[in-house]
Amino acid sequence: MNTERLTNGLTAMGVAFDQNAVDRFAAYCDILDEYNAKMDLTAVLSDDERIDRHFLDSAAPLAQGLIAPDAHIIDVGTGAGFPGVPLLILCPTLRMTLLDALAKRVNFLNDALARLGLTAATLHARAEDAARMPEHRAQYDVAVSRAVASAAVLQELTLPFVKTGGLSVAWKGPGVADELTAARRAAFVLGGTVRGVVPAPVPGRDDWNHVLLLTDKTGVTPKAYPRKAGTPNKKPLA
Ligand code: SAM
Repeated sequence: MNTERLTNGLTAMGVAFDQNAVDRFAAYCDILDEYNAKMDLTAVLSDDERIDRHFLDSAAPLAQGLIAPDAHIIDVGTGAGFPGVPLLILCPTLRMTLLDALAKRVNFLNDALARLGLTAATLHARAEDAARMPEHRAQYDVAVSRAVASAAVLQELTLPFVKTGGLSVAWKGPGVADELTAARRAAFVLGGTVRGVVPAPVPGRDDWNHVLLLTDKTGVTPKAYPRKAGTPNKKPLA
């Protein structure tokens, strides 16, 4: 791994890190490479692209001071662990749950977490089903989600997990403006209020225009939501 690119990037973002974090990012690269060689885990990227697209991009909410160090947090549709694993590497005191619908990704995560010496819960489930379980519904300070669905659909997949007073953070691109009206309507139905978008720049990638869509959980999600698995995507609220 290009350690300098990672450490320069984190420093430019104002994100704190220590040598343990750097070592864990390097080990995570090796584990991702090992799995990608034997299965279709995630897009194969160059070392530098992986640092920018996965590690630095995932750290954005820490740069914004959006997540308390002891937050109870769920990563909905984490895939190979983004943004959840980088957030945990940078802030191992987070109480993290990594959720994904695909078993092979959850199996990978269990192995990767053990080898990285990190503690997190993993959950093999559809978000729509997990959010109806009492141990997960309205239990989290923060729900994060990247590259899983449109903004309106994401509201239904994340807000039911969040406690009143908590926050949903969704990674979005420059097209988010077109999704905002629908996202606001969906949030309203689900007991949330869109706070707005904040820039989430990755150092040296000024053309990306990545943003975080922030939605506050201002109320309680009605019992009817989330709807059954698949329905949020097929019939988005709003
Ligand atoms: N968040 C990761 C990232 O940014 O690299 C993975 C993105 S990948 C494009 C989308 C992931 O979301 C997949 O791993 C998929 O299995 C998961 N996913 C999609 N819909 C889901 C749902 N309703 N419940 C749980 N996981 C879901």
